[in-house]
Amino acid sequence: MIRIAVLAFVAVSAFAQPPYDLLLKGGHVLDSRNRVNGVMDVAVTGDKIAAVAPNIPADRAKRVINAAGLYVTPGLVDMHAHVFAGTMGPEYTGALSVRPDGFTFRSGVTTAVDAGSAGWRNFAEFKKQIIDTAETRVLAFLNIVGNGMAGRETVEQDLGDMDSARTAEEAARYPGLIVGIKIAHYMGPDWMPVDRAVDAGRRANLPVMVDFADFRKERPFQQLVLEHLRPGDIYTHLYLGAVPMLDADGKVLPYLFEARKRGVIFDVGHGAGSFLWRQAVPAVRQGFVPDSISTDLHVHSMNAGMKDLLNVMSKFLALGMPIEDVVARATWHPAREIHREELGHLSTGAPADITVLRLVKGDFGFLDARGTRLNGSQKLVAELTIRAGRVVWDLNGLAADDWPSAPVHPKKN
Ligand SMILES: [Zn+2]
Repeated sequence: MIRIAVLAFVAVSAFAQPPYDLLLKGGHVLDSRNRVNGVMDVAVTGDKIAAVAPNIPADRAKRVINAAGLYVTPGLVDMHAHVFAGTMGPEYTGALSVRPDGFTFRSGVTTAVDAGSAGWRNFAEFKKQIIDTAETRVLAFLNIVGNGMAGRETVEQDLGDMDSARTAEEAARYPGLIVGIKIAHYMGPDWMPVDRAVDAGRRANLPVMVDFADFRKERPFQQLVLEHLRPGDIYTHLYLGAVPMLDADGKVLPYLFEARKRGVIFDVGHGAGSFLWRQAVPAVRQGFVPDSISTDLHVHSMNAGMKDLLNVMSKFLALGMPIEDVVARATWHPAREIHREELGHLSTGAPADITVLRLVKGDFGFLDARGTRLNGSQKLVAELTIRAGRVVWDLNGLAADDWPSAPVHPKKN
């Protein structure tokens, strides 16, 4: 009798193997690419999204995660981070960068785009040490400076090391991994570095990201976004103090809307010094909102007003932006900007990179780069992060069993 029961059980489990590995049930799905904004179940098989539909039966999955009351979004894509850590290189080629896995998953990020920490001379080292070993999907803008961001005052000012042909060649060697060309921190009066970066971008068919903190009368910001950048090129540090944003009456300057109409992309790139409430509050109120929301993650920014991507996204909630618009700017928008359109959404067959967020209500304060505060009443917190179908962050054990189910003596393999 017992034997029959065992056999029957074996037979049933062999035939009724649930098709899904994971099922997130009852969460509010925000997927702007697929125009989903409502309660849906999300099923995962292996490392791919298997289904997004209402009421997928729980017995069709090996593990069911109750996501009721939470937001389920595509894995967040941080367009501007510095993760060339692990070497003892100077500045962003070492000490100022952070290791991706230690900072991404806990804030819902599954894809981090390194913003030009490495150039063509040290990209191979970056790839070997970080990109190939991280569980986070790490993509990169390649710096137009061959040595990358290895010295703001020195290396990054070296016109002789800005070689558009070598840069484009290196980018072509890693299609899909190098997703753009970066030019940063140049202080001189000429346009040559920007134009070389654009030339490399043209040769490699990639967008250019510009990160300047200083503008000069010889090369004003207006000219950068109205003439030098192409449609699809990106200016990061949108709410930097040095960006001419407002007229004497506090109105957003019309050239910014003109540049956007030309197709120039404006990214947040918060950083330690590049996001001011004085700029962001009036600009957002008047409709000059970012195309993408990113951190400029590095050792200084994460310990200052930036903190992490969810904190930066929460700032836009505090500015009155609807949550679906905020999430779109950290998922589908950046994926499109870097031409990786298989990312940033939850279509069937897409990589199973998923973030589960809780919108916490309370009294919160958000600091800008000047250390001034804006108060808010809600904040996004990462409950669960799934990368390629695997749970890589689980704040409250949403995907776990209760402890009595654990064996006293774990099975040895
Ligand atoms: Zn940066």
